[in-house]
Amino acid sequence: MPSKSTAKPRACPLCGNPRDEAFKPFCSRGCRDRDLLGWFGESYRVPVDQPADGTADTDNFTDE
Ligand SMILES: [Zn+2]
Repeated sequence: MPSKSTAKPRACPLCGNPRDEAFKPFCSRGCRDRDLLGWFGESYRVPVDQPADGTADTDNFTDE
């Protein structure tokens, strides 16, 4: 996602609160730890927004 040129203060990627320079890019040690634990744990998964294969409806493409 391209970043806009707005000079907006960075927010904590986890909760959205203004980040603390001591824990950047997070707002607190809690969020930082939660992120670390999440990466090592199983709760932090990369969301997959891709549709399943073979389910695409091709009825709209009636070429020729
Ligand atoms: Zn936070």
